[in-house]
Amino acid sequence: MHPNRIRKIVIVGGGTAGWMAAAPLALNLGRLCDIVLVESPEIGTIGVGEATLPTIRAYNDMLGIDPVDFVQKTQASFKLGIEFKDWGHTGNRFFHGFSDYGPTIDGRSPHLYWMRLAQSFNNMPAIENWSMCAVMARHLKFTEPRQDGTIVDRAFSYGYHFDAGLYAAYLRDYAIARGARRVEGTVVKVEQHPETGFVTALMLGDGRRIDGDLFIDCSGFRGLLIEGTLKAGYEDWSAYLPCNSALAVPCAKVPKMTPYTTSTAKAAGWTWRIPLQHRTGNGHVYSSHFVSDEAARQTLLDGLDGRALDEPRQLRFVTGRRRKSWDKNVVAIGLSAGFVEPLESTSIALIEAAVGKLIALFPDRSFDPALARKFNQYMGTRYESVRDFIVLHYKVTRRDDSAFWRYCANMDIPDGLRQQLELFRERGETAITDPDGFQEPSFVAMLMGLGMQPKRYDPVVDAIDMRELHGHFAGLRDMIDAAVARMPEQGDFIARTCAAPPVPGLAV
Ligand SMILES: Cc1cc2nc3c(=O)[nH]c(=O)nc-3n(C[C@H](O)[C@H](O)[C@H](O)COP(=O)(O)OP(=O)(O)OC[C@H]3O[C@@H](n4cnc5c(N)ncnc54)[C@H](O)[C@@H]3O)c2cc1C
Repeated sequence: MHPNRIRKIVIVGGGTAGWMAAAPLALNLGRLCDIVLVESPEIGTIGVGEATLPTIRAYNDMLGIDPVDFVQKTQASFKLGIEFKDWGHTGNRFFHGFSDYGPTIDGRSPHLYWMRLAQSFNNMPAIENWSMCAVMARHLKFTEPRQDGTIVDRAFSYGYHFDAGLYAAYLRDYAIARGARRVEGTVVKVEQHPETGFVTALMLGDGRRIDGDLFIDCSGFRGLLIEGTLKAGYEDWSAYLPCNSALAVPCAKVPKMTPYTTSTAKAAGWTWRIPLQHRTGNGHVYSSHFVSDEAARQTLLDGLDGRALDEPRQLRFVTGRRRKSWDKNVVAIGLSAGFVEPLESTSIALIEAAVGKLIALFPDRSFDPALARKFNQYMGTRYESVRDFIVLHYKVTRRDDSAFWRYCANMDIPDGLRQQLELFRERGETAITDPDGFQEPSFVAMLMGLGMQPKRYDPVVDAIDMRELHGHFAGLRDMIDAAVARMPEQGDFIARTCAAPPVPGLAV
């Protein structure tokens, strides 16, 4: 045994982040260390966070989770992307899917060739007709990508919508089955080493003391250890991301579940709609500087497509990130590390990234600062690239029908994003800064969807004969349409393969 190994890991918090950290730690390190998770019966979890990115599947696979069992136990549905309504301009609608626009052509991205066609033919269909996810979504279709099919049968990915409480419970059972221990109690005091400042133990309200070597702060927005004790500092991004409030409410499901999230822009923010098997999750994210809570509540309730199942729950947040999410022997994961905002469902993906990186850089009790530095650099890039991608959703707008949208159109934006936007506006090129973040098809979907038309296209694409190019796009579109026509609707796919048990009182 390594003489200086970590013997005990203490996780504070039993929300999505806490259990998403506990499960892979128990799997990978359960035989080497004692793993204890402390959660407070008095302080609840945030209870939202129900849409994900395709990376969730890699996380679940890494744990060896059976996808059917997971879907059934979390009332999950499938997510092909996000339908954006009224973003960019009122009446606008487009789809940001988890798929590209076909194979590269002579090594260049297909959207550059589509731009050439669009500049030559006025009636060129929108680029999303070449996105498998967008076409599947339009017809409410879903099936698994097929590696043995044609190029389009495997040219898409998907994430899930799930019940956040059920997912945390699922991972809790998984972690406990692999040796993690759950302690109920509220941390009221944190002990630190008098010289190093390292956290040595947590005192609970009932007098119990929990010591440890490595502390993982999953205590939510409060950042109990990372901020409350270590004062890591918070970089506030509110000037770029103006929303600071949300209201969330579930409603009765409608008979046809969409295999996608819907985001609808409103006068001072946007609403989400996330269909699950047993209910639909809804919320309104808004800026309290531009609309009252009462008016926002009304906007949310007016947009429900089923009976409200609860009173809307109010949430407040400050977008930004902790300056250091690993400091000394404390690693913050989840909302304690930062919050961009839920527009592209990135928080859970950032939890996956942080847990994966922590395991990859797992320290011993000497806590080499180089490991923390590497972790903080990596997570810093991840958070900033997500921030920039979300900021562009607000910035690239022609809406001027409310003070909120006028603010967004005129607000200052990070330098890196400004350069990305200029490059795209000039000739449709994208500059990807984070290899693990959103890639070119996502930028193309959002920027073109929001209405940004590049001024010119890459001159090299003229090397292809126009008729040949036309034939390529027409052929690909026929393949996509034929493949989607063969697929089942999501409702039938779920009924046949992974229907969750009905929940009493929530029938349609
Ligand atoms: C409006 C909104 C919508 C969102 N939508 C999405 C989405 O669609 N997709 C997505 O990926 N993410 C989304 N998120 C983010 C997502 O909800 C969070 O990333 C996720 O729930 C993780 O939260 P958490 O576990 O870090 O914190 P929390 O859920 O707040 O959990 C904190 C835990 O810490 C414990 N705790 C706190 N203080 C103490 C103490 N003193 N002693 C003991 N225990 C303590 C609490 O009991 C609790 O168990 C959304 C967030 C918001 C605000």
